[in-house]
Formats: sequence, C-alpha cells, structure tokens
Amino acid sequence: MSVAEVVDSHVHLLPGRLGAKVRTIFTDVGGYDLAYPADHAAVCEQLAAEGVAAVWTLPYAHRPGVADSLNRASAATAAADLAVQVVAGATVHPGDDDPVMVVRRAVEDDGARVLKLHCSVGRFDPLDPALVPVWDYVEETRLPVVVHAGRSPDGVGSGDDLLPLDETARRHPAARIVIAHCGHDHETDAVAILDRHPNVHADLTPVVNRLVQVPAADAARLADRLLFGTDAPNTEVTAARCRAHVEALGLVPEATSAILGGNARRLVAEVAD
Ligand SMILES: [Zn+2]
Repeated sequence: MSVAEVVDSHVHLLPGRLGAKVRTIFTDVGGYDLAYPADHAAVCEQLAAEGVAAVWTLPYAHRPGVADSLNRASAATAAADLAVQVVAGATVHPGDDDPVMVVRRAVEDDGARVLKLHCSVGRFDPLDPALVPVWDYVEETRLPVVVHAGRSPDGVGSGDDLLPLDETARRHPAARIVIAHCGHDHETDAVAILDRHPNVHADLTPVVNRLVQVPAADAARLADRLLFGTDAPNTEVTAARCRAHVEALGLVPEATSAILGGNARRLVAEVAD
C-alpha cells in the first residue's frame, strides 16, 4: 500500500498580534495544553515531521474591515519558506464594504485558493444578503468555502446551527461548502446535509480536544467529500493522532488517502483561474 499524501485542510497561521490574541483565548481562558507552538515556522516543522505535506491556512474576520489585511498576511505566509506547502486562505465579513471585491482581490491578485467564513466568531449568518454575491462568485470559480457554522462566539454549537448552511447549499448548489469540524457535535446533521447536497464537503478537524465522530459506513459512502484537518496550532490533538483516527475507520486505501489529502488537492486544483 502506498503512503497517502497528507494535506491538513484546517490550519490557522494567523499574523502577529491577532495570532497571539487568539492563542491566549485557548491557553489562558480555556486552560488548554496546546500541541503546537505559536511560531509559524515551528508549527510547519512539527506538521512536516508528522508527515503533513501541505496545509490550508484559514484566516477569519471577527468584524468588518479586517479581512483585506488578514488576506494579505495569509498570502505572505503562503509565499514564505516553510517546511510544508501552504495554500493561502481568504476570509470576508458580510459587514465589509463590497464583500465580493474583498474575495476577488484575495483570489485574483493574491492567489487565495480557499475561503473561510467563521459565522460564530464573526456573528453572522451564511444567508446574510450581503454574502449573496460572494456565493455567486464561489459557484462560478469553484472556490471551496470552509464554514464554521453557529452563532455562539465561543464556537460551541447548538442543534439548529447547521440549518442556514443547509439552506445556503440549496440556494447555491454549485458552491463547494466545507462544513468545519463536521458540525461537531452535530455530526449526524452534517452527514445528512452531505447526503442532500452533492457539492457539500466536511472536514474532520477536532474541536480543541474532542475528535469528530463519523460512523465508518457514512465515512465510506462520503469518502470523496471528507477532509483531514487539525486546527493547528490551536489544538490539543496532534496531526498524528488525527490521522490515526481516520485510519481507524478501516476504509479501503483509496478512501483513506482521499480523506487524508486527495480531496483537498482536488478542491484546490478545480478552482478556476
Ligand atoms: Zn479552526
């Protein structure tokens, strides 16, 4: 059996002060013992040592007006000489001036290949009317969109958090939505959305120290739409542990390697220039 290429589709290499501030929330407020250091070079070295070949770095805008600078920082990180290949992610907030222009600049000028919407940290709904041109654009360009659903700023979900995402997928059937954390701890609802909408994906990123639970039969059926992720550096779970969790599903080798990296590579390769 060949060794699967591992792509971590859920990493946050956030710039300077913001990166430090987010980290403090996990360490000082949450009291978590994080598995990775803060420094980007050191995080990438540790991931490379665990067999990760490439990562998607996902910035997220907690308020209007910050997405452009986050997106430029993300592009600079992707251009830096790091131990893993870094795919630049972009973000946008519905309160930004001309949200679709923010996304276009990131993709067309700065080479972003994935968009992140953090609904709970940014306190917005994916159905916000200001985002309609963004959804139209991602349908046209096949830009994958990782969505962290929900409304609670601490990222803890409630039962109906995924409903707006289900409706977004219905209105924008070509959008390559990636449900972050497989909607944890509502994985069953996320799986039902994947079953309803053929372009919806989900990442298997743990939530700080809780592994996402998808039954093996569901993972086998949806293996071409599940993505590997860690949330590094702000996670207690290492990439090696996350990988073992995927391998423990006992899927056929093709399915395991699709989840570990093939699906992420395909989504990026399909983005229109
Ligand atoms: Zn995350």
